[in-house]
Amino acid sequence: MDRKGVLVVISGFAGVGKGTLVKSLMEKYDNYALSVSMTTRAPRAGEQEGVSYFFVSREKFEQTIAEDGLIEYAEYVGNYYGTPKSYVEDQLSKGKDVILEIEIQGAHNIRKIYPDAVLIFVMPPSAEMLKERLTGRGTETAEVIKKRMDRAAQEATGIEDYDYIVVNDTVEQCTAKLREIIETAHCRPVMNEDFITAVRSELKAMAGEG
Ligand code: 5GP
Repeated sequence: MDRKGVLVVISGFAGVGKGTLVKSLMEKYDNYALSVSMTTRAPRAGEQEGVSYFFVSREKFEQTIAEDGLIEYAEYVGNYYGTPKSYVEDQLSKGKDVILEIEIQGAHNIRKIYPDAVLIFVMPPSAEMLKERLTGRGTETAEVIKKRMDRAAQEATGIEDYDYIVVNDTVEQCTAKLREIIETAHCRPVMNEDFITAVRSELKAMAGEG
């Protein structure tokens, strides 16, 4: 039986370690496809074009919106971020579980377009720990860190709209938890409609024979 792909949305405050978790999931398991977003933010040291993001100008981003090339997009701390449509649809149709690492507004929009998507919010063990991680990363200015902490406080009001929360205590445990959630999502009837229909019609035929 072919498996239908699950669309998985992973959100969480800046600095919570979403990137590390997603990397760990991708390394451990081979049935995931990670969507690479488009952004107008400048690359950080070590980020690669087409791997971390597709880094584009505002003009190019707005052109992509106009061409209906994005499933969703949002503005986050002064920059645009969006999910390219063709990759996601292509991978889902191949039965891959597609992972989107996106912020909360984007997650809400995905829920509207793909009601069967699974929305997971990664929580820090504590707010204090989040601030430490964000400061310790050393890639952002004090002003940007402040903006991202403010945004975290704002985003904290939308957590109830997610299906699951996972606490990023250790990468190992949290990765295992994410895997469990995604595997469980495959057990929903909506992910197995063809199989259910097939068994149902076999049963009907057998009942007819009897
Ligand atoms: P960062 O600048 O730290 O890489 O990302 C900032 C925020 O934008 C993060 O919360 C990240 O999950 C989110 N983000 C990244 N790509 C997308 C996207 O395609 N759409 C939306 N809505 N958010 C995104």
